[in-house]
Amino acid sequence: LSKSVAVVGAGIVGLMAALEASRAGAKVEVYDEARQPGRGASGHNAGVIHVLQPPFLNRKARLARRANRLFDGLAEEAGFSLRRQPALLVYRNKASEKALALAAASLLRMLAYKVKIVGPGVFRDLCPDSEIRPGGAVYVEGYATVNPVEVLEALRGLLESRGVEFHLGVRVDSLRVGPPGEGVEIRSELGERRYTAAVVAAGPDTMRLARSAGLHPPRVGFYKGVMAVARLNCDAIAAEIRSSRRTRKTKGGGVIPWPDGRVILGPTFARVSDPWDTSFTREELVEAAEAYRGILGFTPEVREGLAGTRVKNEEKDDFYTARRGRAVFLGAIDSPGFTASPLLARWAVTTALGDL
Ligand SMILES: Cc1cc2nc3c(=O)[nH]c(=O)nc-3n(C[C@H](O)[C@H](O)[C@H](O)COP(=O)(O)OP(=O)(O)OC[C@H]3O[C@@H](n4cnc5c(N)ncnc54)[C@H](O)[C@@H]3O)c2cc1C
Repeated sequence: LSKSVAVVGAGIVGLMAALEASRAGAKVEVYDEARQPGRGASGHNAGVIHVLQPPFLNRKARLARRANRLFDGLAEEAGFSLRRQPALLVYRNKASEKALALAAASLLRMLAYKVKIVGPGVFRDLCPDSEIRPGGAVYVEGYATVNPVEVLEALRGLLESRGVEFHLGVRVDSLRVGPPGEGVEIRSELGERRYTAAVVAAGPDTMRLARSAGLHPPRVGFYKGVMAVARLNCDAIAAEIRSSRRTRKTKGGGVIPWPDGRVILGPTFARVSDPWDTSFTREELVEAAEAYRGILGFTPEVREGLAGTRVKNEEKDDFYTARRGRAVFLGAIDSPGFTASPLLARWAVTTALGDL
């Protein structure tokens, strides 16, 4: 019997779901309101394929850690660049910071992460442009970076070669979800089309579409991250361990070398009201770059920047995943959602198609 799957949203989660559904032998159609994939956070993020995600043991952290390993195969299959590199959590020459680093390293080892403490020479070898002389660093294996826009383009190419149909520039207005045997009706300017199943990964709009299908999704907030782009010689993701409580305007950020030679500094973190906000000012770029003086010893010259907005579940530190009949909803896919996307997609498609 032939199966059909509608995917709403051509961000990373939607494209991964389309790939998973196509692998499951379904006829797949992807809808996106924008004219090309990546309008949302998926096209505007820091491109880190994460390993560590505090608090380490929740669902987000577990998904990201397992999904990380799928990216080498995906990079090869879709044809995008992936740069494997360690992350260094750098501490200064201060007893309190060294104690914090040792405690962090032993906790992470207990949780079966591959970490070691390295001396200042390793940091200097990996980040020769930095002018600081740190006390040392916690060295975490297994990180990678990608250029997210390149990943989305490569996935789109792969999906098209597998016969997946794209309806770009088409907004989905609502869904009608019947009992599993009746499938899901997608309503858009193309009319009402029926599919065996649907995966909704529409970023902030997932919540509205879930409500249109009779669900009660959690409250979400929108948080913009601005990232400065610099040219630096660095072969590791680097962030600072600090014992003092300074105002923290960055979240989960660092010095992040991309495969294309550019280095991302950031992101910053600030609440906004527009979920599609990708704007930034010169001052915000400088602020993003200055946050890494502690790692670099200077503020690098910033020529370009980018910004994207996270959709965060305000009720629980978790992604929103729900089902109704054969429709699955994926929303509040905050960091590390890019990393977790292959496994979120696998779960969504398996759940939507069930025993078919
Ligand atoms: C600044 C920043 C840095 C980040 N850094 C990282 C990182 O380093 N590593 C990591 O793993 N994660 C990171 N993230 C998180 C990651 O980017 C997101 O988790 C992920 O991109 C979410 O993808 P998505 O597909 O759910 O949503 P989106 O990318 O928002 O995609 C949703 C799509 O749905 C479409 N759409 C919306 N409504 C409709 C509708 N009604 N009909 C049709 N189409 C619709 C939109 O046009 C959009 O293309 C970061 C996020 C930000 C903002």
